[in-house]
Parts: sequence; C-alpha cells; structure tokens
Amino acid sequence: MIVENSLDEVKKRENALSIIKDIVESDGRDSLFDLTGLSGGFIADSSEISLLETYVGPAIFEDALQEVGIEHMGGEKVLPLNRTSSGILATILTLVKEDTNVVHYLAKLPAHPSIPRSCKLVGANYSETDVFDEFSIPDNTSLVVITGSTMDHQVIDEEEFKKVIDMAHQKDIPVMVDDASGARLRTTVFNQAKACDLGADIAITSTDKLMPGPRGGLMAGREDLIDEIKVKVNQFGLEAQPPAVLAMLNGIKNFNGDNLIKSFTRKDDLFELLSEKFSNFEKTPTGVMISPEGLAGEIDIPHNLSQKDLAFVFSFILLKDHGIITIPPVSMPGASATIRFDLSTSDAFDLDLNDLNKKIVSSFEELQDVIPNEEKCREIVFSS
Ligand SMILES: *Cc1c(COP(=O)(O)O)cnc(C)c1O
Repeated sequence: MIVENSLDEVKKRENALSIIKDIVESDGRDSLFDLTGLSGGFIADSSEISLLETYVGPAIFEDALQEVGIEHMGGEKVLPLNRTSSGILATILTLVKEDTNVVHYLAKLPAHPSIPRSCKLVGANYSETDVFDEFSIPDNTSLVVITGSTMDHQVIDEEEFKKVIDMAHQKDIPVMVDDASGARLRTTVFNQAKACDLGADIAITSTDKLMPGPRGGLMAGREDLIDEIKVKVNQFGLEAQPPAVLAMLNGIKNFNGDNLIKSFTRKDDLFELLSEKFSNFEKTPTGVMISPEGLAGEIDIPHNLSQKDLAFVFSFILLKDHGIITIPPVSMPGASATIRFDLSTSDAFDLDLNDLNKKIVSSFEELQDVIPNEEKCREIVFSS
C-alpha cells in the first residue's frame, strides 16, 4: 500500500502542490488544466480589496452576501463558513446530542467523511443508506441529513428528497442538506428546486464547486437555527474570513449556469473518445470519471497495488506529465479517489477533447509501465 492513512494523504497533497508550483513557475499558469470542477478563484477589484479590514470587511460584504446568498440558496438567512465541512460540524455540534440518532439518505454511498466524523465527535449514532426503501427515522433522532449531490456527482431524485423531508418534519426533526455541489448541479442541470424551497431547515454549499468562488462554505436556512449555529461557528472559529466572504459574493454573482449546461453535452464527446480504449469510464453530469475499481479493471498486467493506489499513481502521472489537475492528488484526507475530468470550469472551456483523450491514454500507458515497480510508484506520489 502506498497511501495508507490520513498522514500519507496530507503528504501526497503537499507533493501535488509542489508539482503545481513548479509547473506554474517554469511554464506558467496556462500549462495547467484544472479539471477538478473545484477550480475556485478570487474575483475582486482593488476598491473592494482595500475594504478588507477585520471589521469593515464583514460590515460591507457579509451584508451584501445576505441578499445574493439567499437568492442563490433560498432560506431566510445565510452564514459564510470556512468550508462546507465547517458548516456540517457546526450544525451537528449545535443540533445533535450524545446518544441520539442521525440518519442520512444519499443517492450513492459514501457520504462526505465530515458527516460521520462530526457525529462521532458528539457521540451520536450515525447511519446512512442509499436505498430509499431502507431509509427510516428511528425514535430519538436529532437530525436527518440529505446529500443533494455526492462527491462523485450522483444526484438525488427530487421526489425522494421531498419524501425524506416530509418524514423528518412529521416527527419535528430538522433536516440538514449537504448540497456542496448540488446547490448548482441539481438546480441548473437537473431543474430541481433549491433545498430550502423543498423544505430543508439547513442547506450548505461549497463556494468553489462548479462556481468561480473560493474554497468555503455557505449555509442557508431557517433564521432561528442559523442564529444558534452561528454561536458555535464563532466560538470555534469556523466562520469565513472577510477575504473569503468577498470572493464568495463575487463568485456567486459570476456563476454562469450556461457553462454547466454546455459541459453537460461536451462530456458525451469525451466519453465516446475514451470508450475507444477504455471500458470503465462513466459519465458524470458535467464530465467523465473512472473509479479506483474501474481503473483496476482496465489493467492487464500483474502488480501489488491497491485500487486506490492505482488511482493516486495515475492521477499524479496526469499532473506531472500533462499538468492535468484532478482531485486525488490535491484532496483532503478521506476524500474519494475517483478520478473525475470535469468540463464545467474555465480551464476546460477551450480544451481540445481529442488532445485531452490522447493525454489520458498516454498517462495510462505510463501507469502500466510503472506499476510493477512499487518503489517508483511511491516516488511518483510522494516526491516530486
Ligand atoms: C466537497 C464536499 C464536501 C466538503 O466540502 P469542503 O469545502 O471540502 O469542506 C461535503 N460534501 C460533499 C457532498 C462534497 O462534495
């Protein structure tokens, strides 16, 4: 095993960032192709930047974010956070007591790790399912969680979404929606309603997913709950700082749903090209992906690597040889090792798909060449 634990994941991320830095310094930013779908960004003009003081910044930008954020997310009030994970943690710290139950329904397992980890921290009993008929809400449940769109962009069925909210509200239990990418993917591409409009009490989105914003979280929902959660957020330092709030505000204002819709059709072309060589790529709403299992299934030579390690080595080759950034090299510990090529953000707009296909094929050939040599693979992942 190459990447065995969270420390290894932190180390591989450091290596990935140093590779990215080297590419930017030697060949320029244009030699990188960020296909993570989380390309972030920081849109701000100089007059705004000059207002980024500790207290002046929030006075101006948090106020402006209320209106723009509510328009994007629905709900009565919004709260900007350091990350989506911070919002999930704060909600669970606020609403979930020790020994109570938290039940989670999502289109496809697994859930984002921040949800089970936060439940563990407060001593709650957590359970999750992706089988709607098996979902139920036991007695002594303090919170129902729904994921709008999973880490791998599997989108929930809207009827099931409504039914879960109904079931929770019949028992007076609040519903938190993890809508990290869903707040845009579900609504823009799948024409679903905003989570708050479907009755969610709390919904949280990631402000760098499928929109040109900074890494951050934006929570929306019932004002009374947001006020209680805000206390925990401030007590534990989970709030977004003024620069992030400014960039969130401008990121949301610059969100363009047409780009998502365009990538929805372009991904079919990329999928066709890849299918000439591979059989295990899958379509996502805005790109294509290959899971660690799928990648392992493409390989026909003997090796001792785990499926996840294969995904890490492959994605590091894509990064080193072609400047293609996918999530596994740069992700936080516990994130999915699925390799997604997302076509919805700016680096992908002008990308020649034939050329991208060739780069993916040649990286795969390189992967087949190196995997018998575990030491070499370790080097690719940990030392640039
Ligand atoms: C990305 C993601 C998160 C976490 O977002 P962070 O900003 O990294 O905390 C949570 N849930 C889902 C479904 C995600 O895709």
